[in-house]
Amino acid sequence: MAKHTILKKTFGYSEFRGNQGAIIDHILDGNDALVIMPTGGGKSLCYQIPALINEGLAIIVSPLIALMNDQVAALQQLDVNAATLHSNISDTETRQIFADIQEGKLKLLYVSPEKLMSDGFLKYLVNQKISLFGIDEAHCVSIWGNDFRPEYVKLSALRNTFSAVPIIALTATADHATQQDILRQLAIPNAKTFLSSFERKNITTRAKSGQKRMEQIENFVKIHPNESGIVYCLSRKSTEKVAESLEAKGFQAAAYHAGLDPSTRRRVQDDFQNDTVKIVCATIAFGMGIDKPNIRWVIHYNMPKNIEGYYQEIGRAGRDGDPAETLLFSSWGDFLMLKKFIDESPNKDFKTVQLAKLDRMWQFATAASCRTNMVLNYFGEFVNNNCGHCDNCLHPPTFIDGTVFSQMALSGIIRTREQVGINLLIDILRASYKQEIRMKGYDQLKTYGVGRNISFQHWQHYITQMINQGIIRIDYTDHSKLKTTPLSSPVLKKEVAIKLTEFVSQKEQKEREKKIKKEVNFSNIDSALVARLKKWRTHLARTQRVPPYVIFNDRTINFIASAKPSTSDDLIAIDGIGPVKLEKYGEAVIEIVTSK
Ligand code: ADP
Ligand code: ZN
Repeated sequence: MAKHTILKKTFGYSEFRGNQGAIIDHILDGNDALVIMPTGGGKSLCYQIPALINEGLAIIVSPLIALMNDQVAALQQLDVNAATLHSNISDTETRQIFADIQEGKLKLLYVSPEKLMSDGFLKYLVNQKISLFGIDEAHCVSIWGNDFRPEYVKLSALRNTFSAVPIIALTATADHATQQDILRQLAIPNAKTFLSSFERKNITTRAKSGQKRMEQIENFVKIHPNESGIVYCLSRKSTEKVAESLEAKGFQAAAYHAGLDPSTRRRVQDDFQNDTVKIVCATIAFGMGIDKPNIRWVIHYNMPKNIEGYYQEIGRAGRDGDPAETLLFSSWGDFLMLKKFIDESPNKDFKTVQLAKLDRMWQFATAASCRTNMVLNYFGEFVNNNCGHCDNCLHPPTFIDGTVFSQMALSGIIRTREQVGINLLIDILRASYKQEIRMKGYDQLKTYGVGRNISFQHWQHYITQMINQGIIRIDYTDHSKLKTTPLSSPVLKKEVAIKLTEFVSQKEQKEREKKIKKEVNFSNIDSALVARLKKWRTHLARTQRVPPYVIFNDRTINFIASAKPSTSDDLIAIDGIGPVKLEKYGEAVIEIVTSK
């Protein structure tokens, strides 16, 4: 069968995305490939379709059991004969798998690298008809990647043992050094590299300063009811704190971190996958093994330590291609804490690199221009367009003349002889009655109270920008006190003007978000119908013991609830419904749509 027929008939999709078609052709011609695609880009189809077209068995290597189980469950929903072999598979199941291979019935087998490279198994495969090898998370083979796994290194034997079987390596890691290393480690020097853009157009990227984060998160969750989301925190304690405050406000949330016992961790992960828990507050340990396509938002309660980590974490949102929201909080506190971690490292080179990465992260968090541009350029995909889906593109910040504010701040720094940090400086400018101020005589300074008409939050927002523009410097070697720089004096002498972005209050922000939320919704969606469909899906998923989205993902549910199909022809036109699912669920769906 041709690849388009399988796309439609088996997967229910009408068009290939990005490079998918070209990659499939390349594999069908018997070649090796390295596929670099961001999370949610659609890597799986690149090997699944050739596996279904070619004769024989496709072997897919993956490091994560949860991911393998998910993929197999999804394929079985489509009546594709797929299975997985790993430590949790029973003997009976294993026997069935080998019987199916023997009869030539099995099309895809997912295995861990250890299992594949175990002596007996590889020898066994030599005598079978193998259609292709898919190496998922291929960056694990390289020490340059961010998740090196020694057991992956042995995979180099594949090319020598199976000289005629195509190998397709797939990863969402962009870095050039890692790409070269994958080709070398897997002994596939002639593999063609297919590089997709890392831009995730369906993800809206926002960053805000981290004042009153909890209140901001509650407001955010309120306008995203019933949506799955992750709040990433830096410490275990804050995951629990955030989960508790959300629960106290009546939202369903759970904490997840490496300190919890394995059964609790498992339960949280399962509940999240099955949509019974909507919000997980987690350390970055959470998410690696999660393939959930309908994560609608990701919030960073604290700033991550680099852009790689940040981008990977927000990338878990919106894998189904539907609109997703991300929100990054950052503050000086976050920056200093991360810096402290890095400073503790004894390795000087490591420190230098990590500090530079942290600086870029901070620039990103406080940028006033297109954030997508910043990320893509960081990964070496050089662009300079305004993306249209970050906060700075959607609502270009308003600039104000900040020269006088800058002079006030600088004069405060100079008159205190560069002995105050950001908070104390603001207190002085705002004429606070703090004891420390009176004791040190700061209330006698000429600058005391000159900025009292400006709120504390406004001042924080402005001074952060002054630091980013280099007219003020933070001295980390001296308790983070503020100091002047060579760029300060021209400002004080009024030789240059300083532009600052205006602070957006929480209330204004809330209004904006409500408006955006409306913009991205399906036009005439029937939300009562969505609820009925989801209830039916949950019930079905429980009986079949699979995650709900392998039955229909949210995108498909939304399509149904806006198109309201009443015949099989209507149904088959919907993205995500092919003949197999039509046969399985068509009648039930039509009944739900047509009943009141
Ligand atoms: P990745 O492994 O690259 O993160 P997946 O292979 O899991 O991404 O695909 C992400 C989602 O996109 C899945 O729900 C998948 O079914 C869907 N998808 C993939 N290709 C297409 C396509 N051509 N049209 C519509 N949906 C697609
Ligand atoms: Zn942008």
